[in-house]
Amino acid sequence: MNAVKTGSHAASTLEKTPVGDLVDGKGHSSGAEWLTRYSTSLMGVFGTPQRVLVRGAGCLVWDADGKEYLDLLGGIAVNALGHAHPFVTSVISSQLATLGHVSNFFTSPTQIALAEKLLALTHAPAGSKVFFTNSGTEANEAAFKLARRNGAGPDGTTGKRTKIIALEGAFHGRTMGALALTAKEAYRAPFEPLPGGVVHIPFGDVAALEEAIDETVAAVFLEPIQGEAGVRPLPPGYLKAAREATTKAGALLILDEVQTGIGRTGKWLATEDAGIVPDAVTLAKGLGGGFPIGALLTFGERTSSLLTAGQHGTTFGGNPVATAAALATLHAIESQRVLEKVAVVGDYLRTGLAAVDGVTEVRGEGLLIGFDLDADVAPAVVTAGLDAGFIVNSPGPRTIRLAPPLILTKDQAGTFLAALPAILQTAKDAQ
Ligand SMILES: *Cc1c(COP(=O)(O)O)cnc(C)c1O
Repeated sequence: MNAVKTGSHAASTLEKTPVGDLVDGKGHSSGAEWLTRYSTSLMGVFGTPQRVLVRGAGCLVWDADGKEYLDLLGGIAVNALGHAHPFVTSVISSQLATLGHVSNFFTSPTQIALAEKLLALTHAPAGSKVFFTNSGTEANEAAFKLARRNGAGPDGTTGKRTKIIALEGAFHGRTMGALALTAKEAYRAPFEPLPGGVVHIPFGDVAALEEAIDETVAAVFLEPIQGEAGVRPLPPGYLKAAREATTKAGALLILDEVQTGIGRTGKWLATEDAGIVPDAVTLAKGLGGGFPIGALLTFGERTSSLLTAGQHGTTFGGNPVATAAALATLHAIESQRVLEKVAVVGDYLRTGLAAVDGVTEVRGEGLLIGFDLDADVAPAVVTAGLDAGFIVNSPGPRTIRLAPPLILTKDQAGTFLAALPAILQTAKDAQ
C-alpha cells in the first residue's frame, strides 16, 4: 500500500468531515502533535497511547501520519465486523436520525427486538430475561447485584448467601463490584475496601471449586476463556462440574462472555457446546459491532425474578441507537455466515502460529487467540508489530493476544504469519 497516497487520503477524509473541523480545523496534525495534546489533557490511566488512529475500513486502520495497519486486535474483541461496516453504519445513522434516546420510563422497538434476538440465539429457556448496559463491567455489576439477591431473606434483606466465587486470573471489569471479582492484585489493592464476600480459587481446579462451594455461596463467576490472563480456556469438564456443584448448593452459575461471546469463538456463546445451562450470561465487547452496549441475560424464571422493580437501573443502557447497532451486527454476522469463517481462519492462524520459530504454545478458539513466546519480549513484539503495520496486544510479558475482526480473511491472516518471524527478530534485537 502506498503510504503517501493513503496518508493524504486519511488527512483529506478527516478534513472533509464536520468532526475534522471540530477537533483540528485542518486535520493535519501529526501523530506526535496529537500525543502531546493527549498527555496534557487526558488522564494518565492508559499510559501513552501507541498511535493516533483517524480512520478504519474493514480490518484496516490508518493513523494520523497516514500509516496503514492490519487490525488483529479489533479494539480488544469489539470491532466484530471490522471498522465502518456499511450496514451497521447505515442502521446506526438512520436510528439516530429517527429516535436517539428515550429514558427507561419508555421503551423502543429495537430494545425489545434485541432482547428477543439474544434470548433466541443463546437458546435461553422459558422465562429468561435481558438487562441492557453500556459496557462489560456494568453487565457484571448487574450480575453481582443479581447474586446478592440469591437467597435473600423473606424480609428483603440480603440473606446468608454472602459469598461469591471467582477464579484466580479472572478479569471482570474495573468498577467496584466487578473489580472485587477481578483477581489481579495491582488492579484491586489501590481501591480497597472492595465489596466483600468474593473468594478467588485456583484456576481450572474442580476439587478446589467443590471444596469452596457450600450453602453460603450466592454465585460462581467464570470466564469460559480468560482473555486478559492470556487466553486461557477452562479445562474440559470444568463447566459441567461447576454446574453440578452450583445446582446442588443453590448457587448461581454466572458466565462472563463479555470477551468470548457474539461469535468470537465461532459460536454465539463460547459455552454453547458445553452441555450446560447457566443461570446468567454477561455480554458486551463484540455485541454492538463497535458501538457501546452490554447485556446481562438471566436464564429461567427464578433467576430472572431476583431483581425486582426499582432495584437496578441505568440512563443510557438499552438506548435505541445501541440496540439498533447490536441488531445490525447480529444480522450481518448471520446473513454473511461469519461464524463459519471465524472457525476456518482461526484454525489457519493457530496452525500457522504453532509453526513459527520462537512460539512455544498457541491457545484459544475461533478468533480469540493467545500465543506464548520463548522470551519476555511480548511488549517489544507489539511495538515491532506496529512498525511493520500490524496491531496486536501483549496481555503478559511473553504472551501475545489476537482478537481481530471476525471478518478477517485467510489472506490477511497469512500476511501476519509471513511477517511474524521478522517481527519476533526485531523485538529480540531491541532487548
Ligand atoms: C473487557 C472485559 C470486561 C469489562 O468490559 P468493559 O466494557 O471494559 O467494562 C469484563 N469481563 C471480561 C471477560 C472482559 O474481557
